Amino acid sequence: MIEKLDDLYGRATNKALRLRAYRPAIVATATPIVSFTFDDVPDTALTAGARILEAHGVRGSFYIAGGLAGRVEPGRTLIDLDGCRELAARGHEIGCHTYAHDAVRRLGPSALAADLDRNAAYLAEIEGARARRNFAFPYNAGSIPALPELGRRYRTCRAAGDRINRGPTDLNFLNAVEIRQPEESALALTARIEEVAREPGWLIFFTHDVAETPTDYGCRPETLDRLVGHAVAKGCVVETVDAALNRLGLAA
Ligand SMILES: [Zn+2]
Repeated sequence: MIEKLDDLYGRATNKALRLRAYRPAIVATATPIVSFTFDDVPDTALTAGARILEAHGVRGSFYIAGGLAGRVEPGRTLIDLDGCRELAARGHEIGCHTYAHDAVRRLGPSALAADLDRNAAYLAEIEGARARRNFAFPYNAGSIPALPELGRRYRTCRAAGDRINRGPTDLNFLNAVEIRQPEESALALTARIEEVAREPGWLIFFTHDVAETPTDYGCRPETLDRLVGHAVAKGCVVETVDAALNRLGLAA
């Protein structure tokens, strides 16, 4: 019952966040932009995901939760500092995904600040401190009380929403489209690429593992390769969230 209420509250929160932008911005672009992002981050997102992006001459954004480093879970193992350093050295963006990977709305102000400080320290070990990183909500679950703290700390915050960012957008609640199981649905996301190519905007994909036998929240290497190749073939600029923001002239 409590779980159900919490779930309802979470959905109502995300709905409210979509109704009124906390940091409004206009995504206006004549060139379609596609960003591939990875959350948590499983080791196959590095060994297969990053490699696929690089084979197409592009880079991705990896949202790291330091508290998950090296963790072994059913079907996936999370990367550690060495993996993060490799991603950064290969030109990928390292973003923040909180330290403990708790839903932000479950944390009070001081617990949230302490968690974000802790992840900032972890990320600084990867590549030194950066001005402002991008952030992705664990479980894509937003929080209204956390808006000022997140807005102050991060260049953008990404959620889900299954939409393309186009026109009025909230930098504190960027939309993204999930690449997940079943595999046929993941493959069918080429339609979303065609949509953004037809009517330019900024399509952000997110996924987790990239494996021959993926978890429910990942896809197979062939599928990711197909999506990245399709975006490039359709004339989309494929780049990190940070690079896309620079191109769009947003969140300077
Ligand atoms: Zn996550």
